[in-house]
Amino acid sequence: MKLYNLKDSSEQVSFSQAVKQGLGKQQGLFFPQDLPEFSRDEINELLKLDFVSRSQRILAAFIGDEIPAEQLAARVKNAFAFPAPVTNVEDDIASLELYHGPTLAFKDFGGRFMAQILAQIAGEQPVTILTATSGDTGAAVAHAFYGLNNVQVVILYPEGKISPLQEKLFCTLGNNIHTVAIKSDFDACQALVKQAFDDEELKHALHLNSANSINISRLLAQICYYFEAVAQIPAEKREQLVISVPSGNFGNLTAGLLAKSLGLPVKRFIAATNVNDTVPRYLAEGTWQPHQTIATLSNAMDVSQPNNWPRIEELFKRKGWALSDLANGVVDDKITQSTMRELAAKGYISEPHAAVAYRVLRDQLQEGEYGLFLGTAHPAKFKESVEATLGQALPLPQELAERADMDLLSHFMPAGFATLREFLMERAPK
Ligand SMILES: *Cc1c(COP(=O)(O)O)cnc(C)c1O
Repeated sequence: MKLYNLKDSSEQVSFSQAVKQGLGKQQGLFFPQDLPEFSRDEINELLKLDFVSRSQRILAAFIGDEIPAEQLAARVKNAFAFPAPVTNVEDDIASLELYHGPTLAFKDFGGRFMAQILAQIAGEQPVTILTATSGDTGAAVAHAFYGLNNVQVVILYPEGKISPLQEKLFCTLGNNIHTVAIKSDFDACQALVKQAFDDEELKHALHLNSANSINISRLLAQICYYFEAVAQIPAEKREQLVISVPSGNFGNLTAGLLAKSLGLPVKRFIAATNVNDTVPRYLAEGTWQPHQTIATLSNAMDVSQPNNWPRIEELFKRKGWALSDLANGVVDDKITQSTMRELAAKGYISEPHAAVAYRVLRDQLQEGEYGLFLGTAHPAKFKESVEATLGQALPLPQELAERADMDLLSHFMPAGFATLREFLMERAPK
């Protein structure tokens, strides 16, 4: 597989290089040179397979022979060891539940596949994974790498801006997992990661790798569950499918659009955001004007500079699609809460991110269409806000209950680069 840097297409790398590097020069994103396509017959055959077998074929179509087929198949099997069920919510709308993995959020799919691929290509070389999280990536990455030889993980997150349970889930692991609470917001954490990757000395000393949604391996992994969703819905509804994606950094939506480019029948995608609405405003007005990030109930979507957006633009350009066909909508906290109550009244307990996606989908779905919204996290992961909104107690799933009473092992730092750099250099392999 060959990929090029979106900021400088003369920089071309293999899949392994792209996974190891994360970002290219000038912090450019890597994008696949070839966009494979399946025929309608091939798609129909794929849809008959089980999740793991189908995912092995989809990933092999991108990655090619760079990883031997058998080894890739084993990696996919290790990564995708949990289901992604479609649950009916009403006659014309269902939820694709992506939160049945070890950290109860969709980021388990990408995080675990990336960990498997890095383990595959790193060999004996010790590497450091540096990533910023708005909540769920951190947990997924931490759990995916926990205890792996030759890999240490450093995760930055905005202090006080992720849910206490989210924090417990990944900041209590220890061992090869280091967590750092930064006194600022997610964009500042993301900026620190970018700064670290621009620091050649640091990058070299630590063999730095990224692990947030910019890593191409995560995106490719996420393509697979869109196929899994379509495989589960009745054949007669497949041609009228509209998928609503609760978006922050826009990795999830990028993966969905890549699934469509492979030939998966999806009539329309909806980019649903909270009031951090840089993309909806861009689509409406044609100007890219990020505002200050605003804290919301759907905190994993509190991103005002979504870093996957250039990939979406590139894909639309390459495919000759019109950006005006990308549906979108913005949901504030008040409507998020009333939507959570509306869903609960229908017998479906959701959390703020899924509720944002459902709201825009319900409001925009046309007669005869069939809608799917992505359930990106388990409601119990957002226990406080779900309980406060619905006025009912939520039992904690076992994974969270076990961690809730453990001590936090995080380090605390200001948003400046110097302190972080020192912290990292102390952890460089000798
Ligand atoms: C990360 C996350 C999102 C946003 O996904 P992107 O790929 O960053 O757009 C939505 N919901 C939850 C629960 C998340 O953790």
